[in-house]
Amino acid sequence: MTEPIRLALCGDILHFQRDPGWDDDGGDAARFEPDGWLLVEDGRVQAVRAADQPPDARWTRHDWRGHLILPGFIDTHVHAPQLDVIGSYGAQLLDWLQRYTFPAEARYADPEQSRRGAERFLHALLAHGTTAALVYATVHKTSSEALFATGQALGMRLVTGKVLMDRNCPDDLRDDVAQAERDCVDLIDRWHGVDRLAYAVTPRFAATSSRAQLSMAARLLDAYRDRAGGLYMQTHVAESRDEVRWVAELFPESRSYLDVYAAHGLLGARSVLAHGIWLDDADRALLREAGRRSPSVPRPTCSSAAACSTGPGRAPPGCAWRRPATWAAAPACAPCAPWPTATRCLRCRASACRPGRACTPPRWARRRRLDWRTRSGTSRPERWPTSSSGAGPTAPCSSAGRTWHAACMSACSRG
Ligand SMILES: [Zn+2]
Repeated sequence: MTEPIRLALCGDILHFQRDPGWDDDGGDAARFEPDGWLLVEDGRVQAVRAADQPPDARWTRHDWRGHLILPGFIDTHVHAPQLDVIGSYGAQLLDWLQRYTFPAEARYADPEQSRRGAERFLHALLAHGTTAALVYATVHKTSSEALFATGQALGMRLVTGKVLMDRNCPDDLRDDVAQAERDCVDLIDRWHGVDRLAYAVTPRFAATSSRAQLSMAARLLDAYRDRAGGLYMQTHVAESRDEVRWVAELFPESRSYLDVYAAHGLLGARSVLAHGIWLDDADRALLREAGRRSPSVPRPTCSSAAACSTGPGRAPPGCAWRRPATWAAAPACAPCAPWPTATRCLRCRASACRPGRACTPPRWARRRRLDWRTRSGTSRPERWPTSSSGAGPTAPCSSAGRTWHAACMSACSRG
């Protein structure tokens, strides 16, 4: 019988026993083990031990003292093909889509571009500690195929799907309802529930899908509701006022932007709505109600991307940030960027840790006032290596549904 591969990583280990929620200090949810031991056997986390409980000689030791070891980050909203347009200047969302995003996405019609793009993107996520992600592909089937195949090879928890977009977009990015449904069914049958992969039905946003296409998306969710926990649904909602006005013109029968999705049967426990800046109380009640109808998780999730740029203390009146439904931190979406934000989101709220200022793990740990939220500032495509050698010290490991990636946060001081 082959001996298991046993790795013991020594460093400052921060991990979580439960959701820290919105408490100032997270209560006792966050646990910190200075110079602790993370034991990994055959790629799975076995234990976290205190410094005075070192493993025996069967474990190969790796000394990462002076560095911070964290569970893998989970990114709830990111666009793979937009890796190429990070930092591109755009005054407003709709302008930015037309000038930069759509041309970049059109290139993914080429399977080779999709393959190379998926590899670059997912390696970039891993290199910055993100081991699980809900990802937008492009409208092309081949782009989802490439993400799934590469994500599977890398052992990632990846949820993605072909973008649905049958109007108000360039011709080379426009699909139609029938072909889109066939592509989705093929992808779902091939990938959903395989290893750590899952499919997300992905209408880009209400303005680029016809009523018929939104209804088709809902049919897919219903048809596969019993397979591997059901499909996910991801889309955008109410990011900018211009966008909200446009959707109101396209769907005059709907009370609000969010109501378009509700009316088409797209809100459920596995719905993830990006942004949600300009929601009102009725919208928030709608989200809560959609959650109550679900047996599995409390309610749909809004990934609070652009809201993070203002922060809760300065959220504009009416901003959904003030009374969230269920929120998940995500990188800012315009432009969506996977790398700086994941590491930058973990800052000491009391301003001890800023890019360009020293922040050692002991000081960082004493405060325990972590700011889980992401910030704005993706306009500068910085690269912060995750270890002194420029590469993460381990491959991602999973345990009991939790994914870990040993990331060295000494880079936090590098600005
Ligand atoms: Zn987005």
